[in-house]
Amino acid sequence: MKPVYMDNNATTQVAPEVLEAMLPYFHELYGNPSSMHSFGGQVMQALRRAREQVAALLGASAEEIVFTSCGTESDSTAIRSALLTNPDKRHILTSRVEHPAVRALCSHLATQGYRVTELPVDGEGRLDLEQYKRALTPDTAIVSLMWANNETGVIFPIEKAAEMARERNILFHTDAVQAVGKIPIDLAKTPIDMLSLSGHKLHAPKGIGVLYLRKGVKFSPYLLGGHQERGRRGGTEATPSIVALGVAAELAQKKMDVENGYVKGLRDRLEKTILDTVPNTKVNGDREHRLPNTSNISFEFVEGEGILLMMDEFGICASSGSACTSGSLQPSHVLRAMGIPFTMAHGSIRFSLSVYNTGEEVDFVLEKLPPIIETLRGMSPYWKTGARLCREA
Ligand code: PLP
Repeated sequence: MKPVYMDNNATTQVAPEVLEAMLPYFHELYGNPSSMHSFGGQVMQALRRAREQVAALLGASAEEIVFTSCGTESDSTAIRSALLTNPDKRHILTSRVEHPAVRALCSHLATQGYRVTELPVDGEGRLDLEQYKRALTPDTAIVSLMWANNETGVIFPIEKAAEMARERNILFHTDAVQAVGKIPIDLAKTPIDMLSLSGHKLHAPKGIGVLYLRKGVKFSPYLLGGHQERGRRGGTEATPSIVALGVAAELAQKKMDVENGYVKGLRDRLEKTILDTVPNTKVNGDREHRLPNTSNISFEFVEGEGILLMMDEFGICASSGSACTSGSLQPSHVLRAMGIPFTMAHGSIRFSLSVYNTGEEVDFVLEKLPPIIETLRGMSPYWKTGARLCREA
């Protein structure tokens, strides 16, 4: 059964053009780009080209691109570098809805004597810029805010936040793993110092990422070793994946408008029809400032896991906003930060589409999903006794 894959914020299919471009670097052009011989030199040329392609997508220059192994490494490198290059500052400013790649690191740093402020969000997942401004202090070493949320797709006003940090001479990092390739980004026009991206979210393979490092920003490498990446990240370059990311970046740049218009059309139809046909449903997150591919929908009185399992029987792939950890079903930290009521947060499903989805697939989900919800609600004591009892509890 071919999956109906609507989990593209988790990972994406490698684009056929991307796969084709990277293959020769496994078996024909396998030289080490650092070698003196011309066999390696050809590969160095390919890396140079990929660097330019990624830079073009971001409005950056090629020397500001540092290849890493993933988004998580880029996030860690950026935050640790800011702390090491500003040893007299002990404050990190971030938000409550960051990806674990940032949150887990910040929690760890809090145990090492750093002061971490996690800004709250409102019920729609939005950041309050006035509150953000008040939290910027002379002791702040770095601000790290995500550009777009992986669970809800909500887009933060990153350009404004970066400007406010710059006015106070505070380093600004953004985790743009979900934003790159989905919304236009022009780093020439915004004072972002560091930005993280990850190849596997934009139709390149897993295991390749980028840290954008603005020219002139003081930097302390995370991986010390060889002179690769101008001494900013030791380790022989993952040449096939870097070539792949270059091509993926070029494709994203060329096709972003058209493709995202198409994806948004599919997403909006899916979302609207679900809201119209299934009672007690709600979209989580600011619908205006949102990625074009993401829809996070709560189905009241149903457990997300149940929906996922039943959809899985039809080959439909999505994600839920709750995770079964240590025996207790905890709604995600993002939905909790938004204050989504328990009965809603538990039944949340994230659909994240891509250009490889079709109208027929949307129809298929729209055919299968409503009876799934009806079946699950039929088994739910809360649904049977009604919302009133549950709300009183
Ligand atoms: N940041 C965000 C917002 C993400 O969605 C993800 C992956 O889901 C990451 C960071 C981590 O990226 P990677 O899987 O490349 O380490």
